[in-house]
Amino acid sequence: MNKIRNFCIIAHIDHGKSTMADRLLELTGTVTKRDMQEQLLDSLDIERERGITVKLTPVRMDWNGYILNLIDTPGHVDFSYEVSRSLVSCEGAILIVDATQGIQAQTLSHLTQALELGLTVIPVLNKIDLPASDPERVAKELSDTFGFLDSEMIFASGKTGLGVDKILEAIVARVPPPRESTAPYSRALIFDSFYDTYKGVVCSVKVFDGEFSSSDMIRFNATEAEVSILEIGYFKPKMVKSDLIKSGEVGYIATGLKDVGLCRVGDTVIARVPETDPHMKVEPLVGYKEMKPMVFTGLYPISADDFPDLKDALYKLKLNDSSLDFVEETSQALGHGFRCGFLGLLHAEITHERLEREFGMSVIVTTPSVGYIFDGHEIKNPSDIPSSATVLEPWTRVSLISPEGYVGTVMQLCQEHRGILKEQMYIGQQVKLIYEIPLSELVVNFYDQLKSGTSGYASMDYEPIDFREVEIVRLDILVGGELVDALSYVLVKSKAESFGRSMVSKLKDVLPRQNFSIALQAAIGGKIVARETIAPYRKDVTAKLYGGDVTRKNKLLDKQKEGKKKMKEIGRVSIPQEAFLKVLRLD
Ligand code: GDP
Ligand code: MG
Repeated sequence: MNKIRNFCIIAHIDHGKSTMADRLLELTGTVTKRDMQEQLLDSLDIERERGITVKLTPVRMDWNGYILNLIDTPGHVDFSYEVSRSLVSCEGAILIVDATQGIQAQTLSHLTQALELGLTVIPVLNKIDLPASDPERVAKELSDTFGFLDSEMIFASGKTGLGVDKILEAIVARVPPPRESTAPYSRALIFDSFYDTYKGVVCSVKVFDGEFSSSDMIRFNATEAEVSILEIGYFKPKMVKSDLIKSGEVGYIATGLKDVGLCRVGDTVIARVPETDPHMKVEPLVGYKEMKPMVFTGLYPISADDFPDLKDALYKLKLNDSSLDFVEETSQALGHGFRCGFLGLLHAEITHERLEREFGMSVIVTTPSVGYIFDGHEIKNPSDIPSSATVLEPWTRVSLISPEGYVGTVMQLCQEHRGILKEQMYIGQQVKLIYEIPLSELVVNFYDQLKSGTSGYASMDYEPIDFREVEIVRLDILVGGELVDALSYVLVKSKAESFGRSMVSKLKDVLPRQNFSIALQAAIGGKIVARETIAPYRKDVTAKLYGGDVTRKNKLLDKQKEGKKKMKEIGRVSIPQEAFLKVLRLD
């Protein structure tokens, strides 16, 4: 009898996936109480700090004679891609819904994906320890919307551990074991990869056919690279060596490869083709949909000398984040750098932060832009677009779920962003709205506005649909009379002037004063549409400190020096690193 169960946890952000994963690890004795830290599977610093899961993390648990492979997944709208990858490696999914909130936009989108892939779904109403929770109401929402039976639903709390044993029992009883394979070769899907200083490129895999041992040669289907395995094993959640991983199992293959380009996430690894037919054509496993980058920004090292290091860091990061896309480019203002494609603005921010934290890079991120089509070509850099033109811009289908009381606010927000209402329906006491909205309207700070306008209650999800014609202009920013191409921004004509005004006034707030006055201008095709001036500062910054305290004075000077390192010199003006993204965070 097959005693393997592969499952993942899907949920809207903050509904308690990572916390539930902690309880499962504890209850199965995979991690002892002493070694437990909150949200253990969020291994990146940034995940722990922000409390959001960015990367999926596989982990193997042993329970009552069964092997349970859990793949925790992220919930934010930008990372749906990570979710789709874990889903194809599982036979079952635990659907966690916060019983104080109910169904949210990503609950819908992830569940729909899971059902389409034929996964067995176990619905769990979570956070029932909270007095504000109403599991009966949310259970009704789930049964009305998706047809779950009352008897299927489990009431639980990831915080207190209540009901978690029932979840484990349900996984064993309801999730089918992985399919048995009879193929004459071994085949596994790479659903993630990362770089280890000692083990080289390490692939996280789900084995679909045959088995892999540490003495096998493997072939990557896409790149046709062949390599002998260095080590194989499982994640518990640390890497644990093993002799064999078999059909149906989840584990890792360490390749010792230094060249990170040979192994691609989504590719199939092949081994043990029959000796009689060594070049046998093996069908690759159907991975998951390739994600196309939606938002583009420039990434530039603060110091030009760091360019090679930034390049190396981007390649390493790509190994761990296959949706990252980049090509070299040059900016007049910033020198050599990269144009990078991201799944969304949060993805861009996270990448930026990971470059700083994990690779020690100081980088500047330029204003985000969507991929406009001009003259039949996709243009990813705003400065490559004429100062006014008719282009094609990407549109998205956005689903929003909001409590009844906030629907007006949500609709107004969508209308202000050129949204077209397509559908409106009730889900319990919530309303689901479908809008078509241009992507460029979503990338700046739509999500933040949605959250703040609805006290955090409304949620959204989006997918690209098509390209439509639009009249755009390019807004250029001049600092001290110098054009800063990295701040150029493309937008619809009707909004350009007011946007230009808010950009220069924001810039005025984020640029430090210098000992001369600085003119800030916004221009469209040579015509100045907005202007501000930063007055020079008068006094020495240390003058106001009382005389005696030398350490304090030195500290301040050090701080200024540190600050300088994170500035980019443009003409005579130093622009701080964060100014580039901040100018777009308009309120
Ligand atoms: P994720 O984004 O789905 O991974 O959610 P997390 O596991 O990070 O949890 C989000 C927040 O909800 C954290 O502050 C948790 O402490 C809290 N939380 C998670 N599960 C429960 C629960 O069952 N009860 C209560 N009271 N809080 C919970
Ligand atoms: Mg999480």
